[in-house]
Order: sequence, then structure tokens, then C-alpha cells
Amino acid sequence: MLEVKNIKTYYGNIQALKGVSIEISEGEIITLIGANGAGKTTTLMSISGMVQPRSGEILFLGKPIQDLSPNQIVALGVSQVPEGRRIFPYLTVTENLDMGAFLRNDTAEIKKDMAYIFDLFPILAERRSQTGGTLSGGEQQMLAVARALMARPRLLLLDEPSLGLAPLEVKQIFQIIEKINTENKTTIFLVEQNANLALKVAHRGYVMENGLITLSDTSKNLLANEEVKTAYLGM
Ligand code: ATP
Repeated sequence: MLEVKNIKTYYGNIQALKGVSIEISEGEIITLIGANGAGKTTTLMSISGMVQPRSGEILFLGKPIQDLSPNQIVALGVSQVPEGRRIFPYLTVTENLDMGAFLRNDTAEIKKDMAYIFDLFPILAERRSQTGGTLSGGEQQMLAVARALMARPRLLLLDEPSLGLAPLEVKQIFQIIEKINTENKTTIFLVEQNANLALKVAHRGYVMENGLITLSDTSKNLLANEEVKTAYLGM
């Protein structure tokens, strides 16, 4: 579904990605783990078109997307949930969800998707008329994920969904991630600091250090890998 081929991404003179290659098949949950500043967010932003790689290629369903705008990439079926739960704090939950469907005009289907979302996130249904800013951290994160789903992505990019959440909320978010993948058949690319949880829900994982992929394997093998255990799993 997605082929990232040897991309190099810069911020001015700083090279954040030094030749990154990643492959994701339809239906997978893939996680990217690594220390602060390794280049995980830059990898996601390069895929979603928020920053443009200086070289390399990104194919989505066989089509090069590295020169497209973020809107064009969303329209093709790739949505990103950025780090930090960037919802619209002064809009209601329902209005936030409507914003997620801004590129669509299939009103009846949008309505259906909204009903599905409320099914998936009962807490958002309860709070549908409340403004985003009044939700708890975990609820805002759910809203951010739900809003991205309103674009009907085939590939969902999640940047640190567990960051700053209480343990119970972290558990809920990871359950939702698994549910979206199994029930809704959405392919997921998950960037996480919480490598332990990420590797438990993901099928495969990539490890990133200093702008390079240093390891890629099944989650099972990564969880058993001594280097990964020491560096990322706190064992
Ligand atoms: P974190 O978990 O802390 O978000 P990360 O693995 O996602 O880290 P990136 O945010 O992709 O890492 O950063 C990769 C490198 O690029 C870092 O050295 C960072 O300082 C640099 N960088 C990121 N954003 C910018 C920017 N807007 N301008 C300049 N340098 C940047």
C-alpha cells in the first residue's frame, strides 16, 4: 500500500532523514519506534506532505505522492493525526468531526460515518455538543483520531497518540487503534514513544536512530530483541 523509498528530508541545512525506506501492506499495523529527535515525526510529515523530502520516492497504491500537497494526499486516502491532539477547541465535538470530512461531499455517507464514529467512541457521542477544549486529554485524543477517520482514510498515520495521557486513557486509545484496524480495515502507521504498547498492537515494527532505520522485524521478534529491550523497552 505504501512504499517509502530512500527519502532524505531536511529542515534548512539540518538533515532529519538520511535515506529512510519503509513498506506497509494493506491491513497492517506498523509501528515506528525510536528516541526523541530520531526523525519519527519527520517521517510521518514526509508521507502526509507537510514537509517535502529532498530526494527519494513515496508511493501510495503505486502512485508517487512525494510532490503532492497535503490536501491531495488526504483526498487519496492518507490521513494524519498530528502529535499533541490538535483539535478545534472552540468547536463542538460534532463540528470537529464535520471538519474531518471537509474534502467529501457525500452527505448521506458522512452521516453514516458519524454514526459509526459515535458507536466506536461512545464518550464522544455523550459529549457531542460540548466544545473540544472542555474535553479531557484522552477524549481530545479520541476526537483527533475520530476526526481523521471522518476523511475515510485507507491509511491512518498516528503520531504519539499516548503522549501525556493517563494510563486508563492510554489503554483505551490502544484498544481503539486495534478496533479501527480489525473492524474498519484501516491500515495504520503508528509512531510511539511507548514502544512496549506499540509493539503489542503492531504486526511489524521499524526502529529509527538519527534519521536512519536501524532495524525492522515482526513485533514478536522486536519484543524479544536484546538491543530493543535495553534501548526502548526499559528492560
Ligand atoms: P520526538 O519524539 O521528539 O518528536 P522524532 O523522532 O519525531 O522526535 P523529529 O521531530 O522528526 O524526531 O526530528 C528529527 C530531527 O529534525 C531532530 O534533530 C529535530 O531537532 C529536527 N527538526 C524537527 N523539526 C524541525 C524544524 N521544524 N526545524 C528544524 N529542525 C527540526
